[in-house]
Amino acid sequence: MDLQKSKIAFQEAQKYIPGGVNSPVRAFKSVSINPPFIQRGKGSKIYDIDGNEYIDYVLSWGPLILGHCHPEVVKALHNTVETGTSFGAPIEMETKLAKLICEAVPSVEMVRMVNSGTEATMSALRLARAYTNRDIIVKFIGNYHGHSDSLLVKAGSGALTHGIPDSPGVPEDIAKNTITAKYNDIEGLMEVFKIYGDKIAGVIIEPIAGNMGVVPATQEFIDFLRDITYKYGALLIFDEVMTGFRVAYGCAQSLYNVMPDITCFGKIIGGGLPVGAYGGKREIMSKISPIGPVYQAGTLSGNPLAVTAGFTTLKILRDNPKIYEELEQKAARLEEGFKENAIKLGINIVINRVGSMICTYFTDEEVEEVYDYETAIKSNTKMFARYFEEMLKQGIYLASSQFEAGFISATHTIEDIEKTIEANYNALKKLTL
Ligand code: PMP
Repeated sequence: MDLQKSKIAFQEAQKYIPGGVNSPVRAFKSVSINPPFIQRGKGSKIYDIDGNEYIDYVLSWGPLILGHCHPEVVKALHNTVETGTSFGAPIEMETKLAKLICEAVPSVEMVRMVNSGTEATMSALRLARAYTNRDIIVKFIGNYHGHSDSLLVKAGSGALTHGIPDSPGVPEDIAKNTITAKYNDIEGLMEVFKIYGDKIAGVIIEPIAGNMGVVPATQEFIDFLRDITYKYGALLIFDEVMTGFRVAYGCAQSLYNVMPDITCFGKIIGGGLPVGAYGGKREIMSKISPIGPVYQAGTLSGNPLAVTAGFTTLKILRDNPKIYEELEQKAARLEEGFKENAIKLGINIVINRVGSMICTYFTDEEVEEVYDYETAIKSNTKMFARYFEEMLKQGIYLASSQFEAGFISATHTIEDIEKTIEANYNALKKLTL
């Protein structure tokens, strides 16, 4: 595989952009290959500036559930761009998108658009804190909610300590209001509530964690979380930036049959344009400015192009429920094929999958199940890196880290899936040599 032009482009980019990228994971730091620079995408495929073609399982990190350049989305965007790209004034399409989201997700009665998932979770925390008049936020180890100060926090030393900054620049004074707990650990969470219960404004969770591979919360954990937050008067915040409209049209909360107080969205609801949103019960959302005292704003929020792409995408998903069935079938076949290959070649892997979100963990014999951060990080990242490179060479574009979810789009064909299974066999075989 020739990546010569990409290599030069990457060198040039590094002169002017930190690390040559506008989001760190794009730099391929954990693998020894430089990132292909992408020229265009169509359906399930992307093409780099060296002319290589890839089947894309990153899909812009989740948004492109309909694949690249879906004709209806492109047409809607064309029409919108002709009429103006931003006004900073209300447009009807904002209401149309908000209505679609509220109709799809019963826990959401009102929704506020922002520009990224980070903004959505950051604003949700402010709202939860203001609504409860409390400061402490509980988050789970291995869950990622964007890069705002309160959420860029890791566990302090020892269980149940205040969080410590995960990055220089996050003040300790802010991090100390974030308590980190273990994912899928009911007892741990119970302890947290026993100690901090009446100070907890909210608990934020990725109901199906997609930032440590793919790790679904158990039903018992979610049920417990709902009960204990009610009991202590804390808000339950579902971060569905990744899972929203990905795992089901009703989002992850429909699979768990739970009503969170606030839900954060991003990715799919922008159809590939920069977007985020947070929503919830009318009573809670009414605290937001201009009807309430909680300030939150955005020059480009509800941007005409972003809401048009999001609305068109959601409408297609709503009107074609078969898309989710087909995604499930294709993803299940991929999982089955990968598992068969691993068994044939005697390689230990664990595959976690929920609908079209999938992760292959290179585990050793001890780990039979990946259910939290600790079990996830036991994976053999060196082996993953080699696997990743072998897949890329065969035209399969995966996320370059072991701890990312892979995604399938409605445009992935069964041929794409079979080709990927074959490539997976070849790549795994190389690992045994
Ligand atoms: N929450 C989750 C669950 C995410 O996966 C992400 C991004 N991958 C974010 C929040 C942050 O979203 P953004 O990158 O749009 O700020």
